[in-house]
Amino acid sequence: MQTTEALIEVDDELNLESAETVLRWALQKFGRDVALATGFGAEGCVLIRMLAEIDTNARIFYLDTDLLFPETYELIKTLEARYGVRFEQRTSRLSLAAQAASYGERLWEREPDVCCQLRKVDPLREILSGLRAWITAIRREQTPARAGARVVEQDRKFELFKINPLAVWSRHDVWRYIKEHDVPYNQLYDLGYRSIGCQPCTTLVQIGEEERAGRWRGSKKTECGLHQ
Ligand code: SF4
Repeated sequence: MQTTEALIEVDDELNLESAETVLRWALQKFGRDVALATGFGAEGCVLIRMLAEIDTNARIFYLDTDLLFPETYELIKTLEARYGVRFEQRTSRLSLAAQAASYGERLWEREPDVCCQLRKVDPLREILSGLRAWITAIRREQTPARAGARVVEQDRKFELFKINPLAVWSRHDVWRYIKEHDVPYNQLYDLGYRSIGCQPCTTLVQIGEEERAGRWRGSKKTECGLHQ
């Protein structure tokens, strides 16, 4: 890890650069030891397109909880075909049946933090343990918890660099890029979804609600445990 001062200097420099420049810097600096993590939200689709323009062999992975929407699985195939990339699929060590046998049926309804730990955080920790940096699609304006995200920061939870090329982007920026470059996106957005995760924990967002209000509706949970 670099010193905090050196990191702040890099962050200050890259803060003013385009997302593509940040991605180029990340690939040059970390090579095969950096990977984009995506859940195939609109922001992820933007970064996938940008990375594919730079290097179709850049590493991109997703956490397959076995509970994603059919539309998301469809989008994965569409993106691979469009951009000639191959996504690394990471799954939980527990099948859904094994999870139900150990923790009971529909764990997400009773203990979503435990479910996210098993199906997202543990698989993420495994892949991040082999990397020096990861790239995420988070934006500052998505939630108050993400408002302090830097373009380059130390991820103290997983102990590696975390790169957020879209940290300063607005939702409008994301959709403008998608339209301008005809980037494939999850068709659920057209039905009123604003943030799309696992099927049991994602609902429609009403006018006036914040972007991630449809996730874990009815509970205080706002994050999977990947970004803290
Ligand atoms: S988002 Fe819901 S279903 Fe998906 S891993 Fe977390 S609790 Fe489980």
